[in-house]
Amino acid sequence: MRYARVIVGMNHPQTDRVFDYKVPDAFQEVAKVGVRVIVPFGRRNTKTEGYILSLAEESEIASEKLKELLEILDDGIPIFTPQMLHLAQWMKEHYFCTLNQCLQAIMPTGIKTKSIWQVLLDETADVSDCKGGELAVLEALKEMGGSGALSELEKLLGSGSNHAIQQLQKKNIIFLKQKMIRSEYKMEQCYYSFNDQSSLLEDTMKKAETDKRLLGQKKLLYLLKEKGEVTLEEIKNSGISESPLKTLLKKGILLERRVQKKRAVFSLEDYEKTTPFYPTAEQRAAIEEIEHQINLEKGKPILLHGVTGSGKTEIYMQSIAKILDMGKQAVVLVPEISLTPQMMERFISRFGQAVSITHSRLSAGERLDQWKKARDGEISVMIGPRSALFMPFSDLGMIIIDEVHDNSYISDITPKYDAREAAKILAEDTGAVLLMGSATPDLVSYHKARKGEYLLLELKERTGGGTLPRMHIVDMCKELEEGNRSSFSRILQQEIAINLEKGQQTMLFLNRRGFATFVSCRSCGHVMRCPECGISYTYHAKEDALMCHYCGKTVESPRNCPVCGSKYIRYFGTGTQKIEEEVRRLFPRANVLRMDLDTTMGKNSHNQILEAFRKGQADILVGTQMIAKGHDFPNVTLVGIMAADTSLNTGSFYASENTFQLITQAGGRAGRADDRGRVYIQTYQPKHYCITHAAEQDYKGFYEEEVLLREMMGYPPFGAFCSVVISGEDEIETVKAANALGEILQVENREKGFFIMGPVPAMLFKFRGEYRQRILIQGPEEDALVGFVGRCVEKGQQNVGKGIHFQLTRNPLNIV
Ligand code: ADP
Ligand code: ZN
Ligand code: ZN
Repeated sequence: MRYARVIVGMNHPQTDRVFDYKVPDAFQEVAKVGVRVIVPFGRRNTKTEGYILSLAEESEIASEKLKELLEILDDGIPIFTPQMLHLAQWMKEHYFCTLNQCLQAIMPTGIKTKSIWQVLLDETADVSDCKGGELAVLEALKEMGGSGALSELEKLLGSGSNHAIQQLQKKNIIFLKQKMIRSEYKMEQCYYSFNDQSSLLEDTMKKAETDKRLLGQKKLLYLLKEKGEVTLEEIKNSGISESPLKTLLKKGILLERRVQKKRAVFSLEDYEKTTPFYPTAEQRAAIEEIEHQINLEKGKPILLHGVTGSGKTEIYMQSIAKILDMGKQAVVLVPEISLTPQMMERFISRFGQAVSITHSRLSAGERLDQWKKARDGEISVMIGPRSALFMPFSDLGMIIIDEVHDNSYISDITPKYDAREAAKILAEDTGAVLLMGSATPDLVSYHKARKGEYLLLELKERTGGGTLPRMHIVDMCKELEEGNRSSFSRILQQEIAINLEKGQQTMLFLNRRGFATFVSCRSCGHVMRCPECGISYTYHAKEDALMCHYCGKTVESPRNCPVCGSKYIRYFGTGTQKIEEEVRRLFPRANVLRMDLDTTMGKNSHNQILEAFRKGQADILVGTQMIAKGHDFPNVTLVGIMAADTSLNTGSFYASENTFQLITQAGGRAGRADDRGRVYIQTYQPKHYCITHAAEQDYKGFYEEEVLLREMMGYPPFGAFCSVVISGEDEIETVKAANALGEILQVENREKGFFIMGPVPAMLFKFRGEYRQRILIQGPEEDALVGFVGRCVEKGQQNVGKGIHFQLTRNPLNIV
């Protein structure tokens, strides 16, 4: 007897362990590691989806106590490769979640089998000796029309109804029936042909020839005679209805063959094949280094730092070509927002059918089919957002992460994995080369490259020799001093007017991120900051107070600037809408488009707005950082960064890094081959090192200053944070649980020396009906910190009431 160790697809921490099942004889061949199965689970033997993690010859549990596997799904083709199972295990340990949650993130979405228990009432049964709880169940069931979902019944009557339901079942008054919901998004093509084995074939043919009423049959038979095998579509196109087809199938004269078809996400005819560019000297050097890493037994991750337009994408493509030559496959991760038609075109034109693309604008079925193509070896390159990392390729040779600094690589839902960290693990496991590229690498990655942990490759020139735009810093304090109260400096107004006159386009950026409103002085530019953490305070309107989101320190909102005494204290939080209104007022004849979260709720509206602007349907585009990425705008010659300060003061230690990235990207939008672009950076802090270095496009200069600050404060990469959000519907219970956890942390920390900040009310103090408290813990070494916090939370969880949740996040992007 063999045993399968199965993890069930349920989301309770209590069920997040392996359960042993017997493998019935019929499944001996197909019950493999990584296969999706249906198992009976729990007291009711609910049919539940599970995944085989391993197989064993023995079990610690007596054989007669074990249940058997019920079903093998996907025709026994594993849904997880061994590497993916390993990755899931790593993610579980790293991101505070269940193994099942990790497996669900790795699996294609929407295919999970669900089952529902239905309760049916026998209306004719004798209910005379039913009492209390049983009567309540009967009443509720009648109300539901005689049948309903068990879960709904339990919700209605509470879990105390369990016993009554059992009793009613015993008395044969109610029955439980299980319903399985399977959604596999299969697309099938049916083919029809003659059944040569059928003895009726000749007869039918003769009859159809002569009987006029059988004209449909005759046509169909002739079509088959001519073509051999036809699809349903072809039958319909020949003007034949379905009824002769059905008749002949029923009689066994025709055969039906069903073939699963995988949907295509592009049609190759729309693309012209391109050949690789002859690489520039810089590109050649980089390609050679990458090739060297490919040939090494165990290469290093590579960081490709190259200014925008330096030909990084071309390097990716030439490196991929090498991987394909070796018979291996490659994954290319890009931020979803950069997956533009132009970007896809470059890869499709180069690699044709060998490439496919996945993204959220595709249907679940389309995405599943791309996943299957990877699994079945029909494609060798997959391009997509962070989840494309989980493609089940058989021999992965390279993982490319473009725009590696982008925050979209961190999942915002559980498991909150960082695709860059996961990619590193997967690369080690598969022997694939990890190639990361950016014009503005995140500080942590760049630091690793400088330390030699990554191989650093640099591209300093634009391939076309094009020049970067002229960057200007505009001091907004001075504007105010000279009487200009508008959001637009005088110089930017003049420049916009010039552009309108010349028929050239302008982009206006509002670098608003997150929710934070910060407070600064409009006269001297001073920003109110926490003296302990160096992080800007966030304004809380309800209490009219300033709060540091790291340590929780709260101070009164100042009436006057503590530095210069001015009364021009400003609460920043201007939205794109206000800027749009002001542009319309200043330039009533200009055609203005706005793009932000409000205008891009639709599935494809983001691309539509950008396409409209690209085609010249508007003079000015106002937007957030969304508009900085991906698209190429040939007619934009002027970029205005409305208030660089809004991103410089988000109340997070990532603020400077993000601002540098934003200014660089925004600047990259300006300019054409024949016209050097202009960029105006409006700020109240014109001397801030982030602004000055960004204006000079000096990444290294910025890095040198920022890294000193990080080291001084113990911020990443010199330390790590871990946040715990404690939430619950009951405010008092939530605060109690938070305080209890705070105490555990303090006690456990006695000889450890971590910094514990909080508990404090979270920034989103009440969110989706739950109260939230937050504790932030800081320590010099990430893994030790995370282990410590994990253990404390486990302790804290033991004594809290139901409905209190703990959510842990490492190095959170926003402290909310
Ligand atoms: P990046 O990804 O670094 O921003 P791209 O790969 O998009 O840069 O390259 C910028 C432009 O230069 C693209 O239009 C690309 O087709 C072109 N290009 C890249 N490499 C070469 C080359 N070796 N010779 C000529 N043009 C090139
Ligand atoms: Zn001031
Ligand atoms: Zn603080």
